[in-house]
Amino acid sequence: MMNMKTNSRAFKILAAATAVLVVTTVVLLLTIGPWKKSTASGKELRSGRNKETTVSLEDGSDPSEEGVTEPKVPEITFGESVVRTSPDEKEESGGLISEGSSETTEPTTEETSQETSGTTEETTSETTKETTKETTEATTEATTEEAEPKETKSHSDGSYDLSGMVIVIDPGHQRHANSDTEDLAPWSDEQKAKVSGGTTGVSTGRPEYEVVLEIALKMRDYLEDQGATVILTRSSNDVDISNVERARIAVDNQADVFLRLHCDASDSSSARGIGVFVCSRGELSDYQVKWGDWLGTCLSEATGAKYRGCDASTRYSGLNWATSVPSFLLEMGFMSNATDDELLSDPDYQHDLCVGVAAFCQKMKNR
Ligand SMILES: [Zn+2]
Repeated sequence: MMNMKTNSRAFKILAAATAVLVVTTVVLLLTIGPWKKSTASGKELRSGRNKETTVSLEDGSDPSEEGVTEPKVPEITFGESVVRTSPDEKEESGGLISEGSSETTEPTTEETSQETSGTTEETTSETTKETTKETTEATTEATTEEAEPKETKSHSDGSYDLSGMVIVIDPGHQRHANSDTEDLAPWSDEQKAKVSGGTTGVSTGRPEYEVVLEIALKMRDYLEDQGATVILTRSSNDVDISNVERARIAVDNQADVFLRLHCDASDSSSARGIGVFVCSRGELSDYQVKWGDWLGTCLSEATGAKYRGCDASTRYSGLNWATSVPSFLLEMGFMSNATDDELLSDPDYQHDLCVGVAAFCQKMKNR
């Protein structure tokens, strides 16, 4: 009896303990299961977020690279107005020389397209790695958001950093031409007039020397606002400074950019657009045409004018004597064409010319 009583009590205790164990196990299973799941999805969310961060950072560096090679190269046509009869050229050259320059924009175009396709490839491979649709969308949004402000910045006023640059601007000609002569180049005995008279606007009747000085003064203010040090070879029309003397101002100041401002003229009243001329000799001659194309392209983008191409020769004394610094003769438009002539005196267009030159100088600084 005593044994039986003891056995049945022990059995009851065992049964109770088993019941408690079963209940505890069930409760544990019910609580741990969902908890595990939520931990797993939490990990997914976190890793998803990490991917987004990584991708947007990598993509973030691309627009800035694009910013460096910022000018998109439009279609460029060459040689249309290579044979020009501007009074400018006759006096500057002392004879008609025609030199081609058609090979020069190809490298720029190639560079741009290579970088563009590189960017596309990177974006595609990154996107492929993403597993969820949401993440892909988020990446696209992040890329767009980051690209836009930079794009806007590089094209808007007051957004260039030209600090540390010395830019020498030479407004071409002067009120009275000087037909005394000077050496065409350090390597030549050929003589050339010190300063020619320039052309006159077919519609405005304004002389070239007056228009280019007006633009040069605005350009100086604009470039100084972007942080550059700007030196003008003349700030008045009543001066007598030869082309070689103007070149020496650029060399003596070790200009980062020497820009000679001119307006063009042609027998053909339909000739329009922007042209760039550089020297084909000297220590920088390997780069001058490429840089000249940068200048023409930047100006074309800023103004909407057609860029006619960059011509390299040795017929400009003001360039021949400044081969130690990046030197450019810029024909900003044709005063023999009524539309170009009026635009060249238009304050808004003059401002656009300044913006184009600032964009070019930025490119020269970043090169
Ligand atoms: Zn001129």
